[in-house]
Amino acid sequence: MLTYAIGFVQDVQLVCFAVILACMALQDRANRSLRWLAFGYIAGAAGAFLGFGYTILPHWLSDGVYMEAAPLGYACFFMAVACFVRRGIRARWLWLFVILATLPVYLDWSVTGRLDAASTLQDATLALITGSTAILILLNRDRETRLPRRAIAAFLALYSMVETARVVVFLVTGQMPGRVSPSVEVASGLVYVVSCSILPLGFIWMMNARLLVHLNRQSMIDPLTELLNRRGLQAAAEVELARYERSRTNFAVVVLDIDFFKLLNDRFGHPGGDAVLCQVSLFLRNMVREADVVGRLGGEEFVLILPGFGTTGLTDLDALTAIDRLRVALAEKPIPFGPHLIRLTASFGVTVSGGRENLTWETLQSEADRALYAAKAAGRNIARLYDESLAELPVSRA
Ligand code: GH3
Ligand code: MG
Ligand code: MG
Repeated sequence: MLTYAIGFVQDVQLVCFAVILACMALQDRANRSLRWLAFGYIAGAAGAFLGFGYTILPHWLSDGVYMEAAPLGYACFFMAVACFVRRGIRARWLWLFVILATLPVYLDWSVTGRLDAASTLQDATLALITGSTAILILLNRDRETRLPRRAIAAFLALYSMVETARVVVFLVTGQMPGRVSPSVEVASGLVYVVSCSILPLGFIWMMNARLLVHLNRQSMIDPLTELLNRRGLQAAAEVELARYERSRTNFAVVVLDIDFFKLLNDRFGHPGGDAVLCQVSLFLRNMVREADVVGRLGGEEFVLILPGFGTTGLTDLDALTAIDRLRVALAEKPIPFGPHLIRLTASFGVTVSGGRENLTWETLQSEADRALYAAKAAGRNIARLYDESLAELPVSRA
C-alpha cells in the first residue's frame, strides 16, 4: 500500500516536472543539458501514464515498457550531467544503448509473469546508472558548481546504495524487499520520491551557479582585451584600498594612454586599432607581476594598480622609474598587424598612495589622470608622477 501511495506522489511530481522542464528546454534550445534533463522527465512521465493505465493496458505495455521508463529517465539524466560537466562525451551514449537493450527483456518477462526478476533488473540498472552519474559529476573540477555537484553526487550515491540493497535482498532471499525487508522498501520508496524533486532542483542550482559566475565575469571583463573593465577595476581598487587601510601596503596607480591612437585607426582601420589594443594588453599583462592589476578604462586608455610602490610618500620615485622602463619597452616593441609592424608610444600618469589617509579610488584616478594630462602636454611618450603642483589641472579624458 505504502509503495503505491509513494508511487502515486512520485508520478504526479514526474508529470509536473516534465511539463516545466520541457517548457524551459524549449525556451533555451541551445542548452543541451537542460534538453536531456527534460527528456529524462518526459520518459518518467510516460512511465507514470503507463502506470495510471495499469487496469486497461496490456501487460507488455503497463509492465514491460513501464519498467523501461525509470532507467531511461536516469540514462537521460546521465546525458544531462555529461553535457553539463563536458566529460564522458564519447561514453555518454553507452547508458542509453544499454538501457534500450534491456527493453526486450522487460517485454518478455512481463508477458511471462517474471515481474520480480524484471523489477530486480530495473533496480540493478538504476544502481549502476546513479552510481556512475555520481562519479561523473565528481570528476568535474569547476569551483563555482562545487556545492550543488557534491549535493547531487551524495544523493545519487545514496540512491545507488538503496538500489543495490534491493538487488541484494532479492538475490539472497529470492523475494522482493516489499515482502521480506520493510526497511529497505521504505528507504527505497523515500529515495524515489525525493529524487524526483531533488535532482532537477539540484541541476538547476548547478546551472544557476555557473550562470552567476559567468554573468559576474562578463560584467567585470572587457570583451576585446579580456582585461578588467571599468567596473572590474573599481572592484580591484576597492580590494587594494581595503588592504591599504588594514596594513598600509602602499601602491601605485598608473593611467596610460596610447599617443595619437586616432592616427593608427585612420591608417590601419578599426580592426588594426583593435589588434593594437589587444597586443598592448598582452604586453602589459606580461610586463607586470602576478599581484598587479591591469585594466582597460575604455578607448586606448589603460590602468595599472601596482602594490609595493610609494612607501616613502607622494614623491617616491621608484614607481616612476619602473613605469619609465615600461614606457621605453612599449616604445621599442613593434606590433605586428598583417604585413605591417606598427610602432607606437604611450603617455603615463602615475600616482602613489604614499601613506596618505582617507584615500579613495576617485582621488587616485583623478591624480593619475592629471599626471597623464601633464605628460601629454609636455609632448607625449613621457611618464609623469603626480605632485601637488598638478592639483589644479583639468582631469584628462584623452
Ligand atoms: P592623444 O595622443 O592625445 O591621446 O591622441 P589620440 O588620437 O590617441 O586620442 P583621441 O582621443 O583623439 O582618439 C582616441 C581614438 O580611439 C578615437 C576612437 O575612435 C578610438 N577608439 C576608442 N575605442 C576604440 C576601440 O575599442 N577600438 C578602436 N580600434 N578604436 C577605438
Ligand atoms: Mg590617446
Ligand atoms: Mg584617450
